[in-house]
Amino acid sequence: MKEQDLLTAVSGIGKKSASALAKMNIETVGDLIRNYPFKYVDLSIPKNIEDLDNGDTGLIKAEVVRNPKWIKRYGKTSIFSFHVSDGIKDLEVTYFNMPYMYQKFHVGDEYLFMGRIGLYGNRKQMANPSLFNVGQYSILPFYHTCKGISQTNMRKFIRNALEELESVSDEFTPEFCSRFPIMDLSDELRKIHMPNVSRDYENAVKSAKMKEFIRMLTVTRSLSTGNDADIIPTDQTISEFKKLLSFELTNAQEKAIKEIASDISRPKPMNRLLQGDVGSGKTVVALYAMYAAARCGKLSILMAPTQILSEQHYNTAVNILGDTGIALVKGNMSEKEVSELERKIIKGTVRMLIGTHALLYRDLSRFEPSLIVIDEQHRFGVAQRAALGSGNKSLHTLIMSATPIPRSLALILYNRSSITVLDELPKNRKEIKTYIVSDSKRNDMYGFIRDHIDKSEQAYIVAPLIEDNPDLNARSVLSLYDELHKIFDRTEVIYGSNRNKDEIMERFKNGEIDVLISTTVIEVGVDVPNATIMVIENAERFGLSQLHQLRGRVGRGSKESFCFLVSNDRNNERLKIIKESSDGFYIAEKDLELRGTGDIIGQRQSGEPGAAMANIIADADLFRQAEKIVDENMDDAGLKNVFDAIIHEYFDNNGRVVLN
Ligand code: ADP
Ligand code: MG
Repeated sequence: MKEQDLLTAVSGIGKKSASALAKMNIETVGDLIRNYPFKYVDLSIPKNIEDLDNGDTGLIKAEVVRNPKWIKRYGKTSIFSFHVSDGIKDLEVTYFNMPYMYQKFHVGDEYLFMGRIGLYGNRKQMANPSLFNVGQYSILPFYHTCKGISQTNMRKFIRNALEELESVSDEFTPEFCSRFPIMDLSDELRKIHMPNVSRDYENAVKSAKMKEFIRMLTVTRSLSTGNDADIIPTDQTISEFKKLLSFELTNAQEKAIKEIASDISRPKPMNRLLQGDVGSGKTVVALYAMYAAARCGKLSILMAPTQILSEQHYNTAVNILGDTGIALVKGNMSEKEVSELERKIIKGTVRMLIGTHALLYRDLSRFEPSLIVIDEQHRFGVAQRAALGSGNKSLHTLIMSATPIPRSLALILYNRSSITVLDELPKNRKEIKTYIVSDSKRNDMYGFIRDHIDKSEQAYIVAPLIEDNPDLNARSVLSLYDELHKIFDRTEVIYGSNRNKDEIMERFKNGEIDVLISTTVIEVGVDVPNATIMVIENAERFGLSQLHQLRGRVGRGSKESFCFLVSNDRNNERLKIIKESSDGFYIAEKDLELRGTGDIIGQRQSGEPGAAMANIIADADLFRQAEKIVDENMDDAGLKNVFDAIIHEYFDNNGRVVLN
């Protein structure tokens, strides 16, 4: 069996399990063994029953001292209970609706029970504990699972895969592993999934994180070499560009434009990060660079994560620069339209291409663009790949990001002088008033929205789900629509897959819709200055950066704007942070901090060399070690094969680059 094999090659995995796992993006054996545990429980150190209080979750090693007795048994309902003892104290164990467990327990049997202690009357009991044979595991890994795959199955599948795999390897050669504190991959995976003592997985996890950092650093370091990017003359371009604008640039924008002008007028490839909070006006800065390139006959590309956003950028570009020489590249263009566009590029009548990340796959890079701008790219991977292009020469690259790359991470990916921060909002902006609203205040909130619609303003309502789902206690776009279109006449819904979402967005922009109910598809970049209210339903379900991004959809014009975080979880840490701060950088750092704790290892995104498992803040020490390894050894002839393999693996692996 090989890593590339489909899951059904693993014993125990049938078609049904394979398709359940596919929903978690686990499709091959290689994916499966990289589904790392998010925590471990040490089964070698059970607790004493007497030390467990009501509400505690704990592990005990105990013997059955009284045979199970049915307490209830009819239809689908069943309850049985029995007594166990750890030699010091007794405890009642109860299983609800798990009748098949009944025959497992006989007086004298010893098991490990893991579960939560509750009170039944005033008796302590453990309900539906997980059960382990003594000696079966010493350290128990816990995985992210999905519907149809139990924790037990996931463990079994991964173990089987590791047993049955012929070999696994990565770019790190035995020599490399022996010189630095990292492990051979097969050893690493065994210790991650089947550790005997906690030191095993601690070391293995360190090794895996270190490898990620080494990969990431190798790729980024390889980008800033070369001296063969196009020189874009910039004399006079800034003052000319300013004449095209209907507003004054902020000082921060002016400064950014000057830095970019100086970068692109040199042959060393620009690799600049333009960070600015939502609404700080990054697009105009990018358009300047594209304008300068077009003026000297060079091709530039602007990539955005969504179709809506790329159309918005296209419209902005046309508004400022006029409609000649700019093309909107759509994902669904026909062959004919593409070849038409190609002709125009060759003729030189089109100099600026604007589109989604799908542009990467349109092979437009063979026209050798001089400059590429990537907007709202949260993921390190795609941007870096685009930066390298597939042509032979280097590209000037400008990456624009609102909050998602916190300063600490940015400093690692870019050198200090290549980061521009737009730390100033255009003058007409006002603070967005943010409130946490419980469900019981819903009608007041609707009244508030009504008042603002009467003043010709507009509102967004964002919900976590498209349709109601009996398993998830959260509001959906469609159920909100049912409720709200009776209250607000001009209400519409958009979500990722509805066909006419661009048309609806357009109508919202034109003021033909008052209330737009949406999923997070409107998260990034959408700009409708007349929208002044953002309602976020089940706000507790969203991440910090996401909440901040969503809030950033309002407050874009001169009118006072409001954000309502609808949640019954008033003490939610994230909601409090959002309510109290509007500083995107602060929020991003907090986000990294909060996400970094709890999970030992996060879910790794396949194909990304970014620090998906490792956390730059929590693993700062490891990062520094990795940095030392890369910086001191990249030129070592004996290790060159490893660094080359990393770069090669990454940039040749088109199929695995994850697009948003
Ligand atoms: P973001 O940084 O979030 O991408 P945008 O580039 O979308 O922000 O700009 C937000 C809005 O602000 C747009 O409508 C844009 O035209 C406007 N804008 C940009 N710069 C200025 C400025 N200096 N003065 C006034 N409005 C500006
Ligand atoms: Mg933007």
